[in-house]
Amino acid sequence: MRIVMKFGGSSVADGAKIDHVAELVKQHLKGNQVAVVSSALDGVTDQLLELADLSLKGKTSQVKDELEKIKKRHSEAAEAAIPIEAFKHGVLSTVSTLLYELERVLSGISILRELSPRSKDYVLSFGERLLVTILRGALQARGAASRDFSGGEAGIVSDENFGDAKPLMNVTKMQVQKRLMPLLEEGILPVVAGFTAVTQHGDITTLGRGGSDNTATILGACLDADEVWIWTDVDGIMTADPKVVKNAKVIPRLSYAEASEMTVFGAKAMHPRALEPILEPRIPVRIKNTFSTSAEGTLIGGDQEASSGSIAKAVARVSDVGIVSVGGTSMVGLPGTAGRIFDALGKQGVNILMISQSVSESNITMVVRRNSVQKAVNALEIGLLSKGEVREVSYEDDVNIIALIGSAMRGTHGVAARVFKAVADRGINVIMIAQGSSELNISFAVRGKDGVEAVKALHDEFKLGA
Ligand code: ASP
Ligand code: MG
Repeated sequence: MRIVMKFGGSSVADGAKIDHVAELVKQHLKGNQVAVVSSALDGVTDQLLELADLSLKGKTSQVKDELEKIKKRHSEAAEAAIPIEAFKHGVLSTVSTLLYELERVLSGISILRELSPRSKDYVLSFGERLLVTILRGALQARGAASRDFSGGEAGIVSDENFGDAKPLMNVTKMQVQKRLMPLLEEGILPVVAGFTAVTQHGDITTLGRGGSDNTATILGACLDADEVWIWTDVDGIMTADPKVVKNAKVIPRLSYAEASEMTVFGAKAMHPRALEPILEPRIPVRIKNTFSTSAEGTLIGGDQEASSGSIAKAVARVSDVGIVSVGGTSMVGLPGTAGRIFDALGKQGVNILMISQSVSESNITMVVRRNSVQKAVNALEIGLLSKGEVREVSYEDDVNIIALIGSAMRGTHGVAARVFKAVADRGINVIMIAQGSSELNISFAVRGKDGVEAVKALHDEFKLGA
């Protein structure tokens, strides 16, 4: 098989873990062609962001201290993960070269007191670039021939949307095949820095926070892999948050559509955008636990996509959201009001998670992140209320969205009835309801204090637990 394996930050959090990862990769080399993608050491991306910010503010002594910490963590990790002196030596010297480059970039930022999205991406790229150097050394020390690459060096070319760049798949495919395929065929392991890419002009970009998953699926698609494996620190995608529901269990199989609903609703196992590149070639993704390798994990997509007999597969909860309502009879029968509402919010960068409008048309309700509730209210007051287009704008800022997810709900009658009876039986008031016409999920909003109980109610009603 040809497999792309991606390791998240918590899987490579220190030298001992990198050592474990190298061993794990090695075990899978027999009979397989493997390409590895890795995140940065856990927390390093945040540290780098902080460093960029401190440099911008000209806080040079703090920058120095933070840089020292980053240096220490990486050299300790290399010491612990690479048992053979010669390899360790080479890696430590590349690590210092990279850190010296980082130091120079940061001093540029602090001299100019200027941090463009482009320079920020340059700074952020060091986390993954440092890590792959160490991981490559750990693999070589185990006798696995390997080479490390930044995303750009591996051939991933993106647009110029720094901070949240998208791959340009045609060029990327050509480049990745040209650069990595010969290595795979020779039995050399490419170890690719996740999260990073390069523009057509050669500037480093990043694919958005959590973007290493995306690197893995981009490579999977370009290399025509049989499977993409996402190694993380949980056993797979679960029927509910195990911190909320005691008997939550791992879901063995999900369709692409179900998995994408789950990730959008915050399943931590995978980045929502990561499914895109592999949808069309229909490459299956396995979510696996780095620290419990015998666990089956969750298998997403693939040939036998047919979902299991259960109507619903999981209950998700999004906390930290609020509701904004716009009302007034002046809206009734007036085309364009909804357009103007969403336009006002869009211009302020407010992301809308859920929408509902009653047939009477006198009210439109939207769910937004809690930290954009005030921004949304202000935008609507200035854009519509002050012009008399709507009569009132109200909000509530402690709300949870609950969603029941599963493709077998499509065309099954009575699911909604069971959902709302289960919730009502526990005395929970539903504030707002939405179901997309795909019928892949039924979502509703409840007050923050009722969120956990609502999840339990549905998990029990649809017998999702172990
Ligand atoms: N290191 C990056 C982040 O923390 C990318 C990733 O981990 O996927 O967002
Ligand atoms: Mg990370």
